Amino acid sequence: MRFGAAVLRSYEEPFAVEEVVLSSGPAEGEILVRIAGCGMCRTDLAVRRSAGRSPLPAVLGHEGSGVVVETGGPDTGLAAGDHVVLSFDSCGHCRSCLGAAPAYCDRFAPLNLFGGRPEKAARFTDAAGGALAPRWFGQSSFAAYAVVPARNAVRVDPSLPLALLGPLGCGFLTGAGAVLNSFGAGPGDTVAVYGAGAVGLAAVMAATAAGAVAVAVDRHPERLALAEKLDAVPVHSDSADLPDRVRRLTDGGAQYALDTTGSAQLINDALRALRPTGHLGLVARLHTALPLEPGTLDRGRKISHICEGGAVPGLLIPRLTGLWQAGRFPFDQLIRTYPLADINEAERDCEAGLVVKPVLIPHQA
Ligand SMILES: [Zn+2]
Ligand SMILES: [Zn+2]
Repeated sequence: MRFGAAVLRSYEEPFAVEEVVLSSGPAEGEILVRIAGCGMCRTDLAVRRSAGRSPLPAVLGHEGSGVVVETGGPDTGLAAGDHVVLSFDSCGHCRSCLGAAPAYCDRFAPLNLFGGRPEKAARFTDAAGGALAPRWFGQSSFAAYAVVPARNAVRVDPSLPLALLGPLGCGFLTGAGAVLNSFGAGPGDTVAVYGAGAVGLAAVMAATAAGAVAVAVDRHPERLALAEKLDAVPVHSDSADLPDRVRRLTDGGAQYALDTTGSAQLINDALRALRPTGHLGLVARLHTALPLEPGTLDRGRKISHICEGGAVPGLLIPRLTGLWQAGRFPFDQLIRTYPLADINEAERDCEAGLVVKPVLIPHQA
């Protein structure tokens, strides 16, 4: 079959929306999905800075949602017509996967970031027959269709707004999973979030939904206004003595903090604003050594990197849609949709901070 997709051919060029070819349908254990929408995540844009590690040309996009068109057999557990949210890929066999921690799969980087599953890679080409990189995050959803391992598809309630659900598979999953799984925050807890983008605001919504008090730190006034609307206490990151302010707002220090910025200064400030035994989670990829100032880890404080919210997508995504239905996780307020043809405009708006979460729509009604 032939369909439209956004192809990235070099790290410097814009995306090209063009026809691509899938020469065979889903193999055993796979499904073919008609994409309803696909969120744009920082990790898609970071490919431009991957220094050759993510193979090109490639169809990116890893926050897809859509309708199952065809399945590769009954073992997929899915049927044509099912509505699904697509998440990250994992091997299913390593110690982490066996321990219900697929976000820490031994093969996470090769499966999702650096080439995907090599089997049957040759079936996906551009219109001239030129090779495309195997699936990105097991999906490559900046496209009208995607072939996906059933393992990273989660069936959802068909009454939900399908085109908007894709970011529940990565960005929103990351922020919410950190708070609900990795921290296990609950009533009486305090959560300080550094960086109020899609991941940070998902963490704010999850903290509030869990009955915790959220503080959001950012440098953009419009992001702080959005965080306040989501019931967080807003704090400008340029505030004089930021750790003291956060400590005052959290009754002596936050129990949990999530940094989405990767800034060494903010990470040190976040540690100083934790209460004893507090836990700081990092989600951004660090590109340099991280200097920690003396004393920041004293008194039982700890720091860890959190991948994909430590989530089992098949468990967390239905929890988040349930919270949305109850009016307690209003993620749709962070989304702006664009036709897939306008993907370069979506990237510009995302880089300029004009949109929290762009979602690309490949099929126009
Ligand atoms: Zn694994
Ligand atoms: Zn992502």
